[in-house]
Amino acid sequence: MYNKYAILILFLFGTINSSGQEDSDYMLEENKNASVTNYKANKIGVIQVKDNIFMLKGRGGNIGVSVGDDGVFVIDSQLSDASADIVQRIRSLSKKPIKLLINTHHHGDHVGGNRNLANEGALVFSHEMARRRMTAPYMKAAQDKHQRSIDSIIERQGTKITTVEDKKAATRDAEKIVGSVEDIMNLPQGTLPVVSFSKDLTFNFNGEKIRAIHIPKAHTDGDVLLYFTESNVMHTGDAFVNKTYPYIDIENNGSLNGYMKGLEKVLRLINDETIVIPGHGPIASKDDVSYTYNMLRFLNDRIAFHVVSKKTEEQVVSMTEITKEYDDQGFGEGFITTENLVRTLYKEVSKKYKK
Ligand SMILES: [Zn+2]
Repeated sequence: MYNKYAILILFLFGTINSSGQEDSDYMLEENKNASVTNYKANKIGVIQVKDNIFMLKGRGGNIGVSVGDDGVFVIDSQLSDASADIVQRIRSLSKKPIKLLINTHHHGDHVGGNRNLANEGALVFSHEMARRRMTAPYMKAAQDKHQRSIDSIIERQGTKITTVEDKKAATRDAEKIVGSVEDIMNLPQGTLPVVSFSKDLTFNFNGEKIRAIHIPKAHTDGDVLLYFTESNVMHTGDAFVNKTYPYIDIENNGSLNGYMKGLEKVLRLINDETIVIPGHGPIASKDDVSYTYNMLRFLNDRIAFHVVSKKTEEQVVSMTEITKEYDDQGFGEGFITTENLVRTLYKEVSKKYKK
């Protein structure tokens, strides 16, 4: 259990550190896509969720798959080096073309295999904020290159530039020569979603409506839930993770408030018969989602009490009894440790209560 998560943590650290770190890790992950023969064999488990809907489980986020007369519909693509195995597993479920892939959000352990699945024929979808975050590393690289080109043109003018006005004029000229940042941006086609949307989207596929429902500022600011309306199956992405503490990615505009609202939305849409595929962890029910929701409310209230009583972050982190019920069940042994969670909640709660 611990080792499995240690590997996951290694892969995910890129997404939890500064955005610069995240960017380089994301690109690194993508660069591994170069050769199909390089894929390591990963152990991908297949679980039948209901009739024609399956969950594929491996090192990254849980994958959802719908197979049927229209073809294969895939939710999330995990890590790129697992793609060969993932495709093989999908092929064991259906020989129909892999037509559609939707990313629940931008994190590398959910989008790493995009290019490989696109190469299999999948058209890739995501919320536009998720796509924007996926393009960020390429935008940053283009901006750096753009600036270097401008600097070198100005440098060539040498001693001709003496005043601030000279410098401004030289910069304007150089910008005309170099062109815009967008002009030199080198986007890897196939990796990024081809179709992005700003709110919700409906797929009519394999005999049912599959609704992609955006939840603002929850785990990130580009999360979508995927709800199979006939089958009554929901893939939540990381807007819900089962039997482990959630990751609220503040740097990518996630928030405690949005996360809670997202869970409220999930609870409004599903019923006791719904089968929930979480972003991470085992298949879940409405009760599991309620449990996580109540846990966050409870922790929010307890921590709010201590914030109002002017306890410091360090003091609250040391109050292990607050999270005991959940720690005893192993919630803190995943990607987000108890300390990570308490620090995030303390900061989020403080925004509301601390003056
Ligand atoms: Zn995530």
